[in-house]
Amino acid sequence: MNSVFDLLLKGGQIIDGTGAPAYRADLTVNGQKIAAVGILDTPDARTTLEIGGLVVSPGFIDTHVHTDAALLNDPQHESAIQMGVTTEVLGQDGLSYAPLNSDDYRMYSQYMSGLCGTPPQHLDMSTISAFRSHYHRTCSVNTVALVPHCAVRLSTVGFRDVPLTGNSLQAAKVLIREGMEQGAVGMSTGLGFFPAAYATTEELVELTRVVAEMDGVFVIQYRFFNFDRAEGLGPVAEALEIARRSRVKLHIAHYRTTPDNPGETGPMMDELDRAVADGIDLTLDAYPYPCGSTMPVCRFPGWFVEGGPTAIMRRLADPADRRRVIAFLEETWGDALGHTSWTYIGSEGNRNLEGMSWTDVATDRGTSVAEMMCEVLLEENLECGLTGLPPESVSVWRQVESDVMQLLEREDYMVGSDSIPLGSSPHPRAFGAFPRILGRLRRRHGAPLEQLVQRMTANPARRFGLTGRGEIKPGNFADLVVFDADRIDDLATFEDPRVPPAGIRHVMVNGQLAVMDGNCTGILAGEAIP
Ligand SMILES: [Zn+2]
Repeated sequence: MNSVFDLLLKGGQIIDGTGAPAYRADLTVNGQKIAAVGILDTPDARTTLEIGGLVVSPGFIDTHVHTDAALLNDPQHESAIQMGVTTEVLGQDGLSYAPLNSDDYRMYSQYMSGLCGTPPQHLDMSTISAFRSHYHRTCSVNTVALVPHCAVRLSTVGFRDVPLTGNSLQAAKVLIREGMEQGAVGMSTGLGFFPAAYATTEELVELTRVVAEMDGVFVIQYRFFNFDRAEGLGPVAEALEIARRSRVKLHIAHYRTTPDNPGETGPMMDELDRAVADGIDLTLDAYPYPCGSTMPVCRFPGWFVEGGPTAIMRRLADPADRRRVIAFLEETWGDALGHTSWTYIGSEGNRNLEGMSWTDVATDRGTSVAEMMCEVLLEENLECGLTGLPPESVSVWRQVESDVMQLLEREDYMVGSDSIPLGSSPHPRAFGAFPRILGRLRRRHGAPLEQLVQRMTANPARRFGLTGRGEIKPGNFADLVVFDADRIDDLATFEDPRVPPAGIRHVMVNGQLAVMDGNCTGILAGEAIP
């Protein structure tokens, strides 16, 4: 007797996400779930897709994105869904919108606008529950929430350089506990961003004790500012010390070599491996490109941004403050500051700067690079974004990619694209990170496809507690990608970044076809999970 299924994927190569070898099977879906996997005896289905020879894998889980506003402004989210990403972990680097009252939400939206764009300003962001509701069955991908450290600080002591102690510390702990009770899977901080970087190591130990009690994950972008607050520890040592004292599960974001230390994965991981041997529960993620992308306000030191966007704008316009911060920028970044280009500009007036290098814009304006950066921030009300440029030597670029592939051999690694899909000239990682690994880098380095898929699926699902995801088996949610292992590749480049990848045929989210024959269907079946 044949039962009728909603959907049949016929004749695929199943890579189930566990790392097990691929095998040939049919797969059926009923409702949101996978119904059966195997050689099925002529099952009857409302929709049958013949996929002879193509791979069927679980949908990819992107462990690090900055799409909290992009998803609200453009819920189709083609950049992610077309590369097979079916779940994104939001609230990264301590930077997101909840829990914030309406004034702080608008204020912090402006501070973050170079990274995220501007989300709809009327939304209720007062709780993690409210935040999650804005993404539930309204966008193409599933979303996971973290409680962001910056919002916790804003809600307790404002945008000020003061320690969280006594009552404010207790209030912050309550916010983290409530956020996790409302479905957040952990907490994030970014110690290169403010107000998070005003924190001491001790504050983070205290806050992450709550995360540990609730069995959540602490995601960290390690310290870049205010090392006087880190008990004499370096950036990685501080992250490890926090986990050692609070016993929290630690996840270090975008951790790979750079053009400054290509080939040095060994020294980079030694300190971490010793900590793991001592009992630290550690995972990490990386993206397969040699340079990053962010917002220019994160180049400023703590004194310059204290008080938030209004104070930043006032200081940018003040000749003495501006001179002082320009001296800081030139001393801290030197020539690297110019090895950057504009990705995204908020206003029409300066839109022509998108895709221009900072050195070229500064030359055109007859000024220094740091001065130009301050000018544009002032003109744009802070809403402008940047990307680093790849190293001039291709061999250095290749070495960093090779390092990423080596890191992905480790069982504690996952893939976080750090996606920022804004402007006409974004970093290509938003459109290519996953297929780049599964395509050209896998072919170049001969990595096993099953292992790479595991790092993108079962590994993050287990780490972030995403029950029923990340693995193909009956009863799990039908988050699936159908791709051609011989043809899959990224096509997004620094020169032409908004191009979808090749070789990805179908993508399903919660049993619905979000991408069919390479095209977005418009179906928005993503849920706020777990
Ligand atoms: Zn990030």
